[in-house]
Amino acid sequence: MNIILLGAPGAGKGTQASMLADKYHLLHISTGDIFRANIKGGTEIGKLAKSYIDKGQLVPDSVTCDIVKDRLGWDDAKSGYMLDGFPRNIYQAEQLDKFADVDICLNIDVDPSLLMDRICGRRVCSCGESYHISTLNGATTCKKCGKELYRRADDNPETVAARLETYAKQTAPLIDYYKAQGKLVAVDGGKGSPEEVFDRICGRLDKLI
Ligand code: AMP
Repeated sequence: MNIILLGAPGAGKGTQASMLADKYHLLHISTGDIFRANIKGGTEIGKLAKSYIDKGQLVPDSVTCDIVKDRLGWDDAKSGYMLDGFPRNIYQAEQLDKFADVDICLNIDVDPSLLMDRICGRRVCSCGESYHISTLNGATTCKKCGKELYRRADDNPETVAARLETYAKQTAPLIDYYKAQGKLVAVDGGKGSPEEVFDRICGRLDKLI
């Protein structure tokens, strides 16, 4: 089963993707994580990606599509994956249709008014865990692994505003793209805890997987 995950920045894609990948035994592939690993490693792709990510813009399609096409060709992707953060525009979706079979497009729908606070209050851990500052009670380390939490470089108000605009203009049209293909599963990600959103999603996916 191959699933792609859609949702605005701050909709909870990363959190849900890792829980869903565990439950349904899918490989979790996040293009944002791939770019951040390249930035940390100081690669040429990382340098290029950083110049776009810092401005809240999309990394060029040619680079992003090549990375995803390559990654989906590895053996560990053969038994199903959850693509988190790709595609992000119609061109990428059309390219994906040429080299992959998407079974389900899961859209996590969150009221735009909630997103700015969710992202700017986000603190993340290198192990993949993510928290909102309001739930940390002053703690600065990860509850799961104990490492120091940090704020993603692109989780500042200026970059977030640009990311939300990029999402509205380029990524949101994908909802209709996958609806037209009969693959869209839309779930409310704005109400309740991450665990409640997860249960809501599983309630839908259990009938399809
Ligand atoms: P994310 O971790 O999914 O929020 O992605 C962080 C940033 O990486 C985005 O704001 C984009 O600049 C870049 N990025 C991630 N996925 C893509 C993609 N499919 N196409 C272009 N840029 C991407």
